[in-house]
Parts: sequence; C-alpha cells; structure tokens
Amino acid sequence: LGPDGASLQARESRYGAANYAPLPAVFQRGEGVWLWDVDGRRYLDMMSAYSAVSFGHSHPRLVGALVTQAQRLALTSRAFFSDRLPVFLERLCTTFGFERALPVNTGLEAVETALKAARKWGHEVKGIAPERARIIACEGNFHGRSIAIVGLSSNARYRAGFGPFPPGLERVPFGDADALEAAITPETAAFLVEPIQGEGGIIVPPPGYLSRCAEICRRHHVLLIADEVQTGLGRTGRLLACEHEGVRPDGLILGKALGGGLLPVSAFLADRAVMDVFRPGDHGSTFGGNPLAAAVGTEVLALLAETRPWERAERLGAKLVAQLRQAKLPGVREIRGRGLLVGVALDPAFAEAGEVAERLLSAGIATRDTNGNVVRLAPPLVIDEDVLDAAAQTIITVLRTYPG
Ligand code: PMP
Repeated sequence: LGPDGASLQARESRYGAANYAPLPAVFQRGEGVWLWDVDGRRYLDMMSAYSAVSFGHSHPRLVGALVTQAQRLALTSRAFFSDRLPVFLERLCTTFGFERALPVNTGLEAVETALKAARKWGHEVKGIAPERARIIACEGNFHGRSIAIVGLSSNARYRAGFGPFPPGLERVPFGDADALEAAITPETAAFLVEPIQGEGGIIVPPPGYLSRCAEICRRHHVLLIADEVQTGLGRTGRLLACEHEGVRPDGLILGKALGGGLLPVSAFLADRAVMDVFRPGDHGSTFGGNPLAAAVGTEVLALLAETRPWERAERLGAKLVAQLRQAKLPGVREIRGRGLLVGVALDPAFAEAGEVAERLLSAGIATRDTNGNVVRLAPPLVIDEDVLDAAAQTIITVLRTYPG
C-alpha cells in the first residue's frame, strides 16, 4: 500500500466493524474488468464482487440507465405504483419463464422471501399444520447471513455465537439425491439448493443430481427452490445454472448481477400457485423494486438478451480450466467449476488459498479465497480472451514459484 492507501486502510480499521478482513488494496475506480487503487495501480478483477459485476465495472448503458432514472425518480416505496416496476417485473417473468416476481434488494432478502413463501405455501396449499413446515437445504450451502439463513448453514464459522436459530431448518449432503429423498417427510415444504455451490468452494454436483432432485421434489409435492444468486445470469455458461440439467425450479432466487454491479437488486420468482400465498402486508421492503433498481434491472435483462454472455462464459471458462489443468501445477488438488465460476482447490500442505490470493494481488490480480482452501476465479463475463489468457499465465507463474 502507498501512503494514501495505508491511511485509508487505517481509518477503516479504526471506525469500521471488524466483520471483514479485506486484502490490502484500496480501490478508487473501475472500468470494465479493471480496477485502480488510490495509488494509481491497475488490477484485473477476477472475482467481480462475488460474481455481482458480470457486465464489468461502470458499464456505460447501465450507468446511463441509473443516472437517467436518478434524475427522474429514485424512490416512492411500494405504497404507490411507479412507471418502472411493471416493466421490470414483466421482463423478469418473460426472461425466466415464471408467472410472478417479487423484487427485493440483496440476495439474502430474496432467500428469506423464498423461505417465507415456501412455509406459507406449505401451510396453505400442502396442508402442513401451522408452524410445522420444514425446509431442507444442503451441507456446505451459502445463502446469506441473517439468523434464519445461517440457521441453515453447516459452517460453524457462520453460526457460532448467533443462535438460537429458528426450528424446521434441516440439511442433507450436497450432491446426494437419495439423502434428500430419505429426509423428506409430509411436513417438508421446500428443498433449497444452489445448482453449483459458490461460497462453499465452487462445487459442481455429479451429473444428474439436480434433475433427480427435481423429480423427487415433484413426487413428494415439495418445492424445489434454486438459489441462483451467484450462478444465475450467465455466470456458469447458461442463463441459469439449472439449465445444465434441464431443470425448471418451482422457485428461483436471483440477485448480485441483476443489479449490474451498480446497486442491490434481487428477486424471488415463482408461479401463481406459490406466489399468491403472499397477500398485502405479508412481506416487503422500503427499497424493494424501487424505480432505480427497476430501471437498472430492466437494462441488465436487455443486455443479457442482446449479448448472451453465457456463451462467452462457457467458452472462456472451459479454456481457463484447460490451461490451468495442463500446467500441472504443484499443490493443486483440483481445478473445478463451470463457465466463469472457477475454483483452484489447493492442497493445504502446499499453500493457504488466502496467501495465494495475496500473492495474486501483488501480481495485479484481485481475487479472494473461499471455503475449502479454494482460490476463486470469476471475472466479469465481458473479459477479453487475451486478457484472460494473460491472467491464466500470471496465475500459473504465481503458483509455480510459490512460496517464491
Ligand atoms: N445466495 C448465494 C448463492 C450467494 O452466493 C450469496 C452471496 N455470496 C447470497 C445468497 C447472499 O447474497 P447477499 O450477499 O446479496 O445477501
């Protein structure tokens, strides 16, 4: 860090809660796949703010939509209609093939929305006794950090100290459809799953897993809810990661990239049979579906349809994985992922992924580690092929010369 960076870091540490441990780069500007720190140094963004910046930083069309809308009308709350929200809702429903959408802000809120919908559906439609509806999630999941949602987590670090958690939240091993079927009881309302686990270590389940889960859920009248907050909108090489298995979930959770990396925009989508359990007053948020979010979200969906970034993600991701595998790097256990959601799983005896991320930062690549001693590689989907090739070479050099 230069002097400006060091002084800003010190101020953040002095005044901020210590709930994050950022790497030492103080960013000031972003454009496309690039970030610049306060000392003018340029970095390649290889994590896209946990997969939220799929179209790159400050995409001109998205910034244009944001600024135009900010100058016109930014917030009314849902106490009234706005002229932007209906357009966004219609586009969400037609893009993803659902009858209704409920907009909120963060990924966590959309997950909470889905869980509330599932429980009420369980009581009103499936006939589960009040207060008895159960939700099943997966070991190793990440769905956010509210008390209810960390109550679903298997990660002791996310849970420790924050209990007690709400009852009726359970887990089964990820990737094991038989375990799901064994865990289902007449009181099970929903199965919540990430089609590919992101924060859990970029884990792709075995082929056929998701389609078997869908079949099991259908047979037991259990809602299949896909959390595509991280995997959705092209990241894994399909518009939705569920499409890899031809699965259409009963409920779909979107977030992150839906806000174009400019503001928090998330949504829960479902058909009327599920969504119509919500009646006025049941759920909401002051900022959910606000005109600014709706304008940017609509432009994001237009960009998606026009540029089909999942095609690039699939091709470039496969190439990145192949390059890293061919390098036969020391200490690498596995290179895994789909599309541009890639993880480099390291042998802990060789290196700590967090330390490798620090080395990468020094080499001009901004990314972080995630659970399971994995270095995540998830650049904006707009990355140029030659830029990604160069990044692959840098990563290979850093790992080959580690600890250097
Ligand atoms: N679900 C998944 C799959 C996620 O990856 C995340 C964030 N990493 C969330 C939910 C929570 O999103 P947010 O941080 O916007 O609350």
